[in-house]
Amino acid sequence: MFDSHVHAGPDVVDRIGDDAEVAGAYALADFSGFVLKAHYESTVGRAYAASRSSGQTVYGGVALNQHCGGINPSAAAAALGAGGRVVWMPTADAHTQHTADLPRLCDHVPQIGSHSYAVPPVDTRATEATESVLALIADHDAVLATGHLSGDECRWLSERARFYGIGRLMFTHPSYTVPGLAPSAVRALVESGGHAEITTYQLLHQPGCTPAMLARVAEAASDQLILSSDAGQPDSPSPPEALVLLIDVLAGEGLDRGRLEAAASTVPESLLAPR
Ligand SMILES: [Zn+2]
Repeated sequence: MFDSHVHAGPDVVDRIGDDAEVAGAYALADFSGFVLKAHYESTVGRAYAASRSSGQTVYGGVALNQHCGGINPSAAAAALGAGGRVVWMPTADAHTQHTADLPRLCDHVPQIGSHSYAVPPVDTRATEATESVLALIADHDAVLATGHLSGDECRWLSERARFYGIGRLMFTHPSYTVPGLAPSAVRALVESGGHAEITTYQLLHQPGCTPAMLARVAEAASDQLILSSDAGQPDSPSPPEALVLLIDVLAGEGLDRGRLEAAASTVPESLLAPR
């Protein structure tokens, strides 16, 4: 198994364990590796250290939030140049997060001010910077992840990703509260290329989320489905257990277990692995 989305400490909020503890949990559960994500720090160096010490495949990247000024090509260039495999478009500081009143660092640290980020068609002023980031992702053959941006922005990113020759596109939990897409919209996105993610975090913490709803999204994503835990919260199960739980719950909805297991192992592994 391979978990393409997990959070560990140190972080600006409490986490279930630090990088070494989380890597140890995956090793005990016989996972081959994971992607370390943070909303407010590049995880490239941390992933390298975790990989060296655990012997697992650990990838990192950067989420383009307020800590790096949002859609910042130099933050993306630095992360990718040092071996980062993923650039997440704004997550915690996406405009959608602000509108949905979901947690952000600036809620806890008012003196940093509140900044939200969007890409076209929502904010056309961000076109040049976003396209620079996309060109960098293409140059490094890395993964573009859509973060918490809206459906319209996901569609724009998908079209521009094709223009720039990006071969690895991940629609970040499209059925989560942000961006909150219906299964039909998820189907339309993956039909133009890319993978769509479902997370255990949704199952455990998303208001109104049901196993049946996630199963419809999984069907819509078809072979382009990726299952990840997005765990690391102190009140979620340990990350490997969280990912297994998601597979079990979706299998309980009648989905094929072999395909679900692929969506939590070989599919994300090949999406992430450098060629
Ligand atoms: Zn996450």
